[in-house]
Amino acid sequence: MDTKFAVSRRGFVGGVATALGALTLEPDKFLLAQGVGSQQPKIGGEAEYDAFAKLAANENPYGPPDSVLQAMTHAMKYANRYGYPDGGIVEEIAKHHGVKPENVMIAAGSGEILDVVGSAFASNGKKAVGVEPTYSQVYQHVTSVKGAAITVPLREDHGQDIPALIRVTRHNYRDVGFVYLCNPNNPTGVVIPKQEVRQLLDGIPEDTPVLIDEAYHHFVESPDYATSVPYVLEGRSVIVARTFSKIAALAGMRLGYAIAPRELIQQMRPYSTGTINAIVKHGGVAALRDTASQAQVKQITLDLRKKTVGQVQSLGYSVIPSETNFFMIHIKRPVQPVIAAFQQRGVLVGRPFPPMLDYLRVSVGTANEMDRFMVAFKEVMGTATSGSRG
Ligand code: PLP
Repeated sequence: MDTKFAVSRRGFVGGVATALGALTLEPDKFLLAQGVGSQQPKIGGEAEYDAFAKLAANENPYGPPDSVLQAMTHAMKYANRYGYPDGGIVEEIAKHHGVKPENVMIAAGSGEILDVVGSAFASNGKKAVGVEPTYSQVYQHVTSVKGAAITVPLREDHGQDIPALIRVTRHNYRDVGFVYLCNPNNPTGVVIPKQEVRQLLDGIPEDTPVLIDEAYHHFVESPDYATSVPYVLEGRSVIVARTFSKIAALAGMRLGYAIAPRELIQQMRPYSTGTINAIVKHGGVAALRDTASQAQVKQITLDLRKKTVGQVQSLGYSVIPSETNFFMIHIKRPVQPVIAAFQQRGVLVGRPFPPMLDYLRVSVGTANEMDRFMVAFKEVMGTATSGSRG
């Protein structure tokens, strides 16, 4: 699942946040700003959908491996039950991370975890602090529960401005419900180096929860990056969100989880629906155990990313170095018509990410999908210097 709404910079700008170069998005204004509507393409039936090269939502194009399919097929016998053996999914996640089951909350996708955190910590006038652009579902949800978002722009190099996030959090301390870090960030694919994560945690009041979204953790190679799960073990106010939608190819089955100190999990629990289907719980256990399949998916994805990025660069376009299963091309022209032109050629690419409106986000699909992308790219964009970019 990808977020459906464009974030606009139109919003209420005021107070301390403005003085700090940050932008406060108040509930009404922010919802209004989203009102540009869904950027998701209108697609007809199944056949039409299947025919597209699907490079818009950072999914795993290969589908679950046999080990996971077998586990889910086995669990189908519980499809008619409310109560069923759940395969031990919570215990398996806890074991995987070296935490206790009380540190784990499962949800229908990590998107539900992001919503739960928003409802628990940033409703009714409280604020989420983070960068823009990022995975904006977080800000949309807090505004829908009468909270708000304070966002700071990315740095020139597309990194997250940690000193600015610290300043904004400290200045708005009483109002800040939580800080959101997407690491690596969607849509840029850029990681926050581990020492900068620590800098943030050390620089803000220790009781301010920090939600660290590691949806793309499994694709990262950079030695600068580290998961933030150890901070949970240290007892810091850190909530790590993970998903089975990306490397594990279970986006349509909906499974994600949070790792956090017990006290934070307890505050979050009342806001979770607890409705995760029987089938995916068993699939999730198998996915965590099948590390070989995940390593294969990672390798092929990174190989195809490297190949496609090289092809795009050889046409004269720059690409933001990515640590994920997607990458952003600086197309230097408005992205919305380009997205439409790709769709006409049977290729779905990422939505616009304001304010980076002259960048195109492309997910890494299969080899065939990437070939189709390059054919369309040459038609739609030409070379950066050819003048055929009209
Ligand atoms: N977080 C990030 C950064 C994402 O990109 C996505 C989906 O694209 C999600 C969370 C939500 O994923 P899901 O709800 O499928 O786990």
